[in-house]
Amino acid sequence: MKTTLLTPETDENAVKTAAELIRAGEVVGMPTEPVYGLAANALNGEAVKNIFLAKGRPQDNPLIGHIADFEQIYDLCPAVPPQAKQLAEAFWPGPLTMIVPKGDCIPDEVSCGLDTVGIRLPSHPMARALIRVSGVPLAAPSANTSGRPSTTTAAHVMHDMDGKIAAVLDGGACGVGVESTVITLALERPRLLRPGGITLEQLRSVLGEVDVDRALYEKIGDDVKVSAPGMKYRHYAPKAPVTVVRGNPQDTAKYIAERIGDATGVLCFDEYKNMFPNCIVECFGSRDDLGAQAREVFDRLRAFDDTEVTQIWAQCPSDEGLGLAVANRIKKAAGFSVIEI
Ligand code: AMP
Ligand code: MG
Repeated sequence: MKTTLLTPETDENAVKTAAELIRAGEVVGMPTEPVYGLAANALNGEAVKNIFLAKGRPQDNPLIGHIADFEQIYDLCPAVPPQAKQLAEAFWPGPLTMIVPKGDCIPDEVSCGLDTVGIRLPSHPMARALIRVSGVPLAAPSANTSGRPSTTTAAHVMHDMDGKIAAVLDGGACGVGVESTVITLALERPRLLRPGGITLEQLRSVLGEVDVDRALYEKIGDDVKVSAPGMKYRHYAPKAPVTVVRGNPQDTAKYIAERIGDATGVLCFDEYKNMFPNCIVECFGSRDDLGAQAREVFDRLRAFDDTEVTQIWAQCPSDEGLGLAVANRIKKAAGFSVIEI
């Protein structure tokens, strides 16, 4: 299959063409504010199957349904919990996915047989235009090959998906850079399943208590039943193995500098770039600039795959604010191989 790059800057029909492809049951790469998504008609099980094929996504890992207006949630979830309305008022449109009871119109291919569905109202104007012009909600996971770092530019999507999907809609680089926060409202108490652009602190400011799933902090064994099936899989990993060193940034930089060997890659904060001679160094933002770290982290992890490195050391922010999401992606990229100093 030929994958067409649709560029709204030069092609005024780009969104319309993408919407026609969606209506015809095809899969289209779509820019959203957290990361690019692989979108198909969420009400068409056969179309959704093609997302799983293109990504090589495990069959038990459900997809997020994207809507363009809050009222659309009632089509997908007839019994909207009151907390969903509170959260929507505070954070939608934006990078927050809510897991709620699922309506009958959602095919099993989206929910993977669960009785819940993840729903999000994105703020990216091109994503919302595509949903509106398509006239259907869009099921969309991150637009990377399963297991690899997520995609934050159209070029990343083309790299992973060329020949596997009908088109990619180019919306430039994503503004947030890490995937949406996922919170479930389907358990007794709200629980954070994946940290993202909306922080735990922000969620608690609206809901009061929010539990945090243990999968954020530790590797989950195959035999354990997890709340978000995606949490048990290896994620975000470059080809070379990653080891994360956590602690005061000056100390972690020194720790890494003392241990570098041949063909070593280092993912570090901008300030420490010069401490690693003879290494492939990828900087992902200043130590205190969590927004830059979130925007850069996947692009920098991907960059190691164009090099000959055989091991990667990584610095990592602490867990406050957006740092929880950035640290979670780096720890997952490392398969939770983490040294605390
Ligand atoms: P992705 O879109 O690839 O970033 O992944 C979506 C994430 O949301 C995965 O971790 C899924 O397991 C999770 N998710 C989607 N739908 C549900 C659901 N109904 N219940 C729990 N987790 C879900
Ligand atoms: Mg993903």
